[in-house]
Amino acid sequence: EQADIGVVGLAVMGQNLALNIRDHGYRVAVYNRTTARTESFAASPEANHGILPCFSIDGLALALKRPRKILLMVSAGKAVDDTLGLLVPHLEAGDIIIDGGNSHPDDTRRRSTALSAQKLLFVGCGISGGEQGARHGPSLMPGGNPDAWPHIRPIFEAIAARVDGQPCCRWIGPQGAGHFVKMVHNGIEYGDLQLIGETYHLLRSGLHMSPEQLSGLFHRWNRGPLNSYLIDITARILSARDDDGTPLIDKILDTAGQKGTGRWTAIEALKLNTPLTTINEAVFARNLSARREERLLAAQQPAAPLRPWPKADEETLQFAHDALYASKIISYAQGFMLLKDAASAYDWDLDYRGIALIWRGGCIIRSIFLDDIAAAFDADPELQSLLLAPFFAGQLRRAETGWRQALTLGIGLGIPLPAMAASLTFFDGYRCARLPANLLQAQRDFFGAHTYERTDRPRGTFFHTDWDPPDE
Ligand code: NDP
Repeated sequence: EQADIGVVGLAVMGQNLALNIRDHGYRVAVYNRTTARTESFAASPEANHGILPCFSIDGLALALKRPRKILLMVSAGKAVDDTLGLLVPHLEAGDIIIDGGNSHPDDTRRRSTALSAQKLLFVGCGISGGEQGARHGPSLMPGGNPDAWPHIRPIFEAIAARVDGQPCCRWIGPQGAGHFVKMVHNGIEYGDLQLIGETYHLLRSGLHMSPEQLSGLFHRWNRGPLNSYLIDITARILSARDDDGTPLIDKILDTAGQKGTGRWTAIEALKLNTPLTTINEAVFARNLSARREERLLAAQQPAAPLRPWPKADEETLQFAHDALYASKIISYAQGFMLLKDAASAYDWDLDYRGIALIWRGGCIIRSIFLDDIAAAFDADPELQSLLLAPFFAGQLRRAETGWRQALTLGIGLGIPLPAMAASLTFFDGYRCARLPANLLQAQRDFFGAHTYERTDRPRGTFFHTDWDPPDE
């Protein structure tokens, strides 16, 4: 009996997705470049039925029902092109290839165009949720050739996470749209992690709260508007103890790694002129953390005296809460701003409400907050920015005082809060009716005759001043 779908690449993600698809009643053919990996997977107890191991690409092509559906789960980058190069000669018009890795959206656009010229239907699908998500229900962000969607939709909707009975899977748009949305998801994840980290830093180093106390606090916050997977795991991490009984968190080295999707998000924002300040600061903060030796040298330099430590009273804790919540709103507003800018640059018709809904399950950034975002787009599908939605404007108004207090405290104590500060300055800039760009335009006109527009004349009329006339 032929298989319903093929999975190529049997590392963590490929194996778990193959088993997840199989559990929903589909027969799955599997192939991996290194045969030993295919053999050991096929021999594992979980793969004892419904999994058809293949040891060559033509064997895989023969094992699949037409049109063939093949899900690639290989490393992003060259591995995808290498695999496509081997696969394509064995395929026929109408066959479907889905790249489920974290590919760059530009690569997906290039592959989409090249493969459609060969009459193959290419899909770039963002998959979120790591190993557990892949096995039990990921969030899926497919985009590419829309003719592929009816063929893969039943399988994708079956394996996706579910929230309120709805699969966390929607068709995103053409070409690289699915991978772009996944990339922004990862960028938002960088922002969330950094903001939680800064809050922890303020309370741990600034107010000297113990990991145990912080764990309790995060558990408490997880019952409010911050309720999310990341706050939950933070609370659990903070209560974990090492073998000697001391908090494990205190022994973990403070240099952060990255696989690059946050950096891609930052770069795309720069290309599209999106002021994505919170996520960009999160990327830079990881870069700074990685320079540990340099930081240790700098830490020995004499410093100016800092303010004395205040008490961790309820009011101060509420400031920290409000700062985290308000900064998170800014970060998501900026993330959706980037999606809007991409949609207009690439001519995509993105469903922002739908995107918020599919991130509610399976993903690392899953939270009740995404329901509020979906509701804001539901109330006004043309909403220009989340910050203009009455709900979020109201939330920010309530949080604003605490947010400013927390930052003032951090600055006074010498605790770096880059993403939180960037969020607040963005908020202030976004609501500023008159920015100092008037002076900037005058300077540009002074040294480069770049001209300027005037507040008392219609837009589109440009003026130049002879700022520095030669002495008479
Ligand atoms: P890896 O990214 O570690 O990739 C390993 C797989 O890629 C192996 O099957 C390997 O085959 C194959 N591979 C590597 N190079 C080549 C090549 N040149 N030709 C053919 N095959 C090659 O696997 P993961 O399962 O971690 O991730 C798969 C994809 O999913 C990646 O794009 C990743 O970014 C993405 N992803 C991962 C998540 C995670 O939590 N791990 C979460 C969401 C997405 P071989 O055995 O022969 O070396």
